[in-house]
Amino acid sequence: MNLILFGPPAAGKGTQSRRLAQEHGFIQLSTGDMLRAARSSGSELGQRVAKIMDEGALVSDEIVIALIDEQLETHSQAPGFIFDGFPRTVGQAKALDACLEKRGKAVDLVIRLKVDEEKLISRITKRFAEEGRKDDNPETFISRLEQYNANTAPLLPLYADRGLLVEVNGMGSIEEVSLQIDTACKEVAN
Ligand code: AMP
Repeated sequence: MNLILFGPPAAGKGTQSRRLAQEHGFIQLSTGDMLRAARSSGSELGQRVAKIMDEGALVSDEIVIALIDEQLETHSQAPGFIFDGFPRTVGQAKALDACLEKRGKAVDLVIRLKVDEEKLISRITKRFAEEGRKDDNPETFISRLEQYNANTAPLLPLYADRGLLVEVNGMGSIEEVSLQIDTACKEVAN
């Protein structure tokens, strides 16, 4: 099964993707993690994207699509993929369809984690204090939310029209959210 975990920053996509990957053997593809790894390694790509990420802006479609395509190729035998933080633009969504189609696959399910902005801000304040991720500072976080609202949220009606979208209340505990996601996955699998 190929699943997109959709939602604003701090909605819980990473937590749920890691869990699903562990429990079902799916491959988690987080473009944010890939870009952070590129930065830590000091690669040319990492240097190119550092400033953009620190400003809370979006890295170019071309870069993230290439990262995803490479991972799909590397893990061609995987039983499924969880896309975490990708796609974030209409261009990325179209490219994902094409990348999957050329491998005889498709997006099977899009789970939207719904969390209100007040809760996102309280989560990010905590994460910033605990992990110190530069782009979690309050000012940058607002830019990331704006990017989500302007470029990423418009994908929701496109996936809804295709009958792929399931909305999940992301405000509860990890266990409560997990239960809703697992129910949606089972319905698609059957
Ligand atoms: P994340 O960990 O998913 O919140 O991503 C951290 C940062 O990496 C984002 O604020 C963007 O600067 C960049 N990024 C991650 N994924 C994408 C994507 N799919 N498209 C563009 N930029 C991305």
